[in-house]
Amino acid sequence: MNITLEHISHVFMEKTPFETTALNNVTVSFREGSFSAVIGRTGSGKSTLVQHVNGLLKPTSGRLFIGDQEIHPKTKRKEIKALRKKVGMVFQYPEHQLFEDTVEKDILFGPKNAGLSLDHTKRKLPALLEQVGLDESILTRSPFELSGGQMRRTAIAGVLAMEPEVLILDEPTAGLDPEGQDAMMRLFQEWHRDKQATIIMITHQMEEVSRLAERIVVMDEGNIKMQGTAEEIFRRETEIRALELDVPERVKVLKHIERETGMAFSSWSLTPKE
Ligand code: ADP
Repeated sequence: MNITLEHISHVFMEKTPFETTALNNVTVSFREGSFSAVIGRTGSGKSTLVQHVNGLLKPTSGRLFIGDQEIHPKTKRKEIKALRKKVGMVFQYPEHQLFEDTVEKDILFGPKNAGLSLDHTKRKLPALLEQVGLDESILTRSPFELSGGQMRRTAIAGVLAMEPEVLILDEPTAGLDPEGQDAMMRLFQEWHRDKQATIIMITHQMEEVSRLAERIVVMDEGNIKMQGTAEEIFRRETEIRALELDVPERVKVLKHIERETGMAFSSWSLTPKE
C-alpha cells in the first residue's frame, strides 16, 4: 500500500506555553515496496513523521492516507489497531521492550495481541528465526540472558512475526558494533527483497543510507528540506553539511573520480552512466 501525507502539520501541547510544531506542512509519499531513509538532525521531526504512518500520532492538520484508508483525528481505535497489523514499527533500542520470561513468548506477544492465529505464527517461527539469524534453541531461554545483539534480533522478530506490509525502523543499528550493524542491515535488505515490504528507516548512518535507500527524505525544522536518490542528495554536499549531517566518504571518492575522469556515475556501484 502507498502512504501519502498531504500538507501534514503536527503540533504537540497545542495552546500551552510548551506548544511545539514538530511537523510543518509536510507533503511526502512512500510508494508500495520502496526502501526510504529519513535523515536530519535531532529534533527535526523524523520520529513525529514516522509515528503518523502507524497511527501512533494523528495529524493536527492535513490529510494522511495509509493505503486506501484516511487517518484523521476522529479515526476510531479499532481502525488504528487494524492499521498496526499492517505497519510494524521497530523503535530505537527495541530490546528495552522485551519483558516475557522466554524468547518464544516475547516473539509471540505482538501477534497474540493483534489477534493473529498463534498456530500460524508458531509454524512460521523456524523460518523467522533463521531470517533474523537466531538458533531455535533460543526459544526457551529468558531474553534477559541473551547478548545485546540477540536481544535486538528477538525484539525485531516480534515485529516481523506480524508480517507487516510496511516496516518502520527508528535507528535500528544504534549501539551495535560494525559487524552487528552490517548483519542487521542485511536482514532488513533481505526482508525488503523477499516480502516486497515497504521500508521507512530513520538513521544517522550515512553509509547505510547511500548503500540501501532508494530514496532519501531530508528533514529540517519540521519540514522536508530535500528528497531524492542518494546520488541526488549527497551531490548537494554543502547543504547537507549545513544541516550538520555527514556526507559518506564514498561520495567524496565518487566526486573525485568524476572530476578526474569527467564521467558521471549513475549509482553507488561505481557504474558509469551510459
Ligand atoms: P527527531 O526524531 O528528528 O529527533 P522528533 O520528531 O522527535 O525529532 O521531534 C520534533 C520536535 O517535536 C522536537 O522539538 C521535539 O522536542 C518535539 N516533540 C517530540 N515529541 C514530543 C512530545 N511527545 N511532546 C512534546 N514535544 C515533542
